[in-house]
Amino acid sequence: MKLEFFGAAAEVTGSCHILHVGGRRVLLDCGLIQGSRRDEARNRDPFPFEAANIDAVVLSHAHLDHCGRLPLLVKRGFRGPVHVQEATGELTAILLADAAHLAERDAEYQSRKTGRNVKPLYTKAEGEQVMRQIEGHSYRETFDVIPGVRVTFRDAGHILGSCVVEIHAQENGVERRIVFSGDLGQYDTPILRDPEPIDRADVVLMESTYGGRRHRSREKTLEELGEIFTSERSRRGNILIPAFSIGRSQEILYQLGKHYDEWDIGRYRVFLDSPMAIEASKVYWDNAQLFDEEATRLRRENGGMPLLPNLKLSRDTQESMAINRLRSGAIVIAGSGMCNGGRIIHHLKHNLDRPETQVLITGYQAHGSLGRRLVNGEETVRIHGRTIPVRAVVHTVGGLSAHGDQDDLARWYEQIPDRPPVYLVHGEPESQRAFGQYLRGRCGAEVHVPVPGDQIDLDRSPGG
Ligand code: ZN
Repeated sequence: MKLEFFGAAAEVTGSCHILHVGGRRVLLDCGLIQGSRRDEARNRDPFPFEAANIDAVVLSHAHLDHCGRLPLLVKRGFRGPVHVQEATGELTAILLADAAHLAERDAEYQSRKTGRNVKPLYTKAEGEQVMRQIEGHSYRETFDVIPGVRVTFRDAGHILGSCVVEIHAQENGVERRIVFSGDLGQYDTPILRDPEPIDRADVVLMESTYGGRRHRSREKTLEELGEIFTSERSRRGNILIPAFSIGRSQEILYQLGKHYDEWDIGRYRVFLDSPMAIEASKVYWDNAQLFDEEATRLRRENGGMPLLPNLKLSRDTQESMAINRLRSGAIVIAGSGMCNGGRIIHHLKHNLDRPETQVLITGYQAHGSLGRRLVNGEETVRIHGRTIPVRAVVHTVGGLSAHGDQDDLARWYEQIPDRPPVYLVHGEPESQRAFGQYLRGRCGAEVHVPVPGDQIDLDRSPGG
């Protein structure tokens, strides 16, 4: 019985680990490597295993860096089940369809540019094949994965349907409880429930994305948002919010609805300008059984979700273009979250040169992205070959992260009885170092930071 680290070991994306029990193999996640073009080229590398020899996949949640290589696994011969939480299954369908569409478009573009026949990473048909192998489960239901391996999903509070994966493994009379955190949310995050406590673990695989920092408090963040929406400037111009389709967009809509009177949201026209975010929002609002207490109450009082009577969904391009004619009073939520593509680009192009415009940056902006340039306060940016002066006010709003910070992560770990050995995955080396140190100092935890190819022999004591 052993666990082997493969992806998101000593990095953030490409989550994938391999559990070996009784001569069979289970993959925990099969995520896409994201980042620069060179990083992303690694997605085409062969897996360090035969896809056809994998017996099953257990997926922690729907983000692409956790599920985005599943179509590739299928393309290379994997025919087993993909176990997911039910809402994760619905969101995965949306994300994989979009990823396959982008992969096909990118291949066409590269083919034109290079004169070679560049094949897409995978096709829409391969993405759809994954969905035929999906098996949905509820939280807290225990199910068989392979002989000797049973799994229970616990709520991770990160995005809708996100799971901590609790693995009960048995081989030759040895029994182990392995807990894979997936991505963990912040405590008291809106809409979703808190990360669920774990009652036993012999070994813990844990994410560490923000293990090295603390988020701004939620109260401060909401205060800041309130000031922006009620400011004098906001009476004269538009407010643009680049947002990720799954999680962040729904959280923003929820906060706008919750503070509708307080922030005077009624005087705006709110646009959700992203077909993918519209689809994902529907999945969110249709899964009210997964909401936390507050969202359940607000939904009941409102008679349904979303909470915004003035929300306009703009599905097609015509509707999106019409928004550009509005000079004031619009709140526009559009992708991509880092402004490196999508409809937000057009809105920025039409609004950035106006001092009455406000841009709300609510998430991480990678180096080189347009969003990062705006955060850095660059005076001009290039959009579609044009130089545009940035006269808009750019606000960076912290505290809305879908990931727990140092304290959230430690809090989740510390409630596990007997503080089992912990292996940090899914984090930049600096965050892992900082979090490892923090956890050792705070509760004397035995912390390991694996690199790809490392293995834990689970027959022996997992700490060894
Ligand atoms: Zn995630």
